[in-house]
Amino acid sequence: MWSYSFEVPILLILGIILLFYFSRPRLKIRRNNVFLGVILIETLTICIDICATKADINYSSYAVSLINFVNMLYFVAFFIRAYFLYQLPVSVLKISPGKQKIFRPLIRIPLYIGILMSVHSMISGSPEARYFIYYVDDAGYHSGGMYHILYFIGFFYVLMSFLCSVLYSDSLGRRREKYGMLMYNVIVLFAYVFRLAFPKLLIMDTILFMSILVVYLAFINPEYFLDLRAVTFNSSALRQHLMERHDRLRNVSAGMAVRNYQAMRDIYGYLQMEEGLAVIGKYLKQVFPNGEIFYYRNGRFVILDKAGTDFEEKFKTISERFNHPWKSQSVEVYLTVGFALFEPPKETYSPETVLNTMLKTLEKAGENESESLIRSTEEDLKRTESEAVVRKSIESAIDHDGFVLFLQPIVDAGSGKVIGAEALARIKDLDGKIIPPGIFIPVAESSGRINALGEVVFDRTCKFIAEKGLESMGIEWINVNLSPSQFIRIDLAERYSSIVDKYGIDPGSVHLEITEGAMIDDSFLQKQIGAMTEKGFKFVLDDYGTGYSNLARLKKCPFINIKLDMSIVWDYCKERDELLPNMIQTFKKMGFRITAEGIEDDVMVSAMKEIGCDLLQGYHYSKPVSAEEFAEKYSV
Ligand code: C2E
Ligand code: MG
Ligand code: MG
Repeated sequence: MWSYSFEVPILLILGIILLFYFSRPRLKIRRNNVFLGVILIETLTICIDICATKADINYSSYAVSLINFVNMLYFVAFFIRAYFLYQLPVSVLKISPGKQKIFRPLIRIPLYIGILMSVHSMISGSPEARYFIYYVDDAGYHSGGMYHILYFIGFFYVLMSFLCSVLYSDSLGRRREKYGMLMYNVIVLFAYVFRLAFPKLLIMDTILFMSILVVYLAFINPEYFLDLRAVTFNSSALRQHLMERHDRLRNVSAGMAVRNYQAMRDIYGYLQMEEGLAVIGKYLKQVFPNGEIFYYRNGRFVILDKAGTDFEEKFKTISERFNHPWKSQSVEVYLTVGFALFEPPKETYSPETVLNTMLKTLEKAGENESESLIRSTEEDLKRTESEAVVRKSIESAIDHDGFVLFLQPIVDAGSGKVIGAEALARIKDLDGKIIPPGIFIPVAESSGRINALGEVVFDRTCKFIAEKGLESMGIEWINVNLSPSQFIRIDLAERYSSIVDKYGIDPGSVHLEITEGAMIDDSFLQKQIGAMTEKGFKFVLDDYGTGYSNLARLKKCPFINIKLDMSIVWDYCKERDELLPNMIQTFKKMGFRITAEGIEDDVMVSAMKEIGCDLLQGYHYSKPVSAEEFAEKYSV
């Protein structure tokens, strides 16, 4: 006899999950809708199952047509559930409907066949049972000859679900998600196997409930998507949202960024700041009752609202509100904010492009001191997109040795002879065109790849020195740039000396150029330079005049050379003053040699010589050329 004692507790627990789920702000994304669908169809299937089982057991108390009808409903629900159990991983794996134009209608065919056969079984009700799933006669319910279609269709969807999970596993970022997906598929498979093995036990729903729980814990739990004391959605919610709807964002998105967030956080402390931002989040929800508010860390909010929302008007109201403090029981904070409007894209861009453009625009909004709002336009999206191409080129250059080493000569001001060079990196894009450093260096710096890139350039320079020999080109050293993030690596001395050892060259033949950006912490700076000097490396200060170095600091650093940034060289050549000559005299008294960058003509040569520069570098002598060309041109 059938036993449905497992079913009632499951129904109650499903109710509790739903209650929790609806008590938190809910993100309107596909996986949440499908999850809700699964819970509803599962609840419905269990209810119908209980009714049908009751009717089948007590068949003599009910009309044949009623038993027939309830059983038909059960089978229809069974097939719909099988389909939804497949749709759940599809939505979690973010397989967009666009990708499945042909596949989607086809995948529904088994579902339709199942439904048609259920209805057909009810209508015909014939004892000629071979072609039916079931039939009901005076002796009650009987399985038909086609009963096993249940398992065919069930297993078909399980198989498809496994297949999608394997094919699209890349879209699962966290380990929790990867294991969750595997567990889900295995449990659903078990549920069908158990039903096949113990048809009278009605244990399938209990096992399916476990699979629903796994999905809830691995993917759906609203807490994963909430921020600021659960008032707003968080950054991963925004990512999910954009992945589904980035091409449908029409006139609906805007942002707000706290000005000087870091400084404000230092003043108020992290906890107070979070509390204050939560109050702001609550306020934004009142201003945009139909919108979705996302908090993207560091004081940045993104607001998505219905088309036609007058953001400019609302921003005026919000701006006025910011004239007053934000208070809660325990905090009171005063902040100022900048606003951004993301103009709807005309073309389709990837979700990463849309998100990165939003973040960049928000950064600008946070720095914007005026009342006007910052707009992100189609050009901004295009620029972000081309940065993504640059990022790919950097990756491929690092992986496939796609760097080209360029050298620019440095000339002794007294003799006019080339006595050194600066190594400058060039990379080729995916079409083989050279990308200038002005474009790829900032991208490499922001993505952290500057570390690998800088080391490759250093390695190549050492190799070049080992192969050609500096004397063959009449030079004494080659300068290599060291970016701030490389400079702060604790293992820098070890790594760089192992490279010079590999090529058997003198570490003193490569001078390392650092900018003031690397000089953040005085004691670390001295320790690092000390460790490197011990290994035989020498340091040059690059781009002097663009940062905030003071003389006291320079005194402590054993630079062998200070390179004046071309902007101060050009300024001086345009309009002479006393400042630069005096500064150079002071530096020279302190024992530094001076290089002037950006020398483009004879006038600049004599001006720089006159004020005491020792070395000159610039297009007047030569633009940077490939290392091979350099070796040929300057061979002695
Ligand atoms: P930098 O280190 O200050 O390099 C000097 C830049 O000035 C080079 O630009 C050079 O081509 C340019 N330059 C030299 N003389 C003249 C001149 O007379 N007129 C003008 N208009 N420009 C001149 P480049 O090669 O485009 O490099 C730009 C920056 O990119 C470099 O500035 C450096 O900061 C960075 N960079 C280049 N290669 C590397 C590298 O391998 N590692 C790191 N960390 N940064 C690099
Ligand atoms: Mg340099
Ligand atoms: Mg420079």
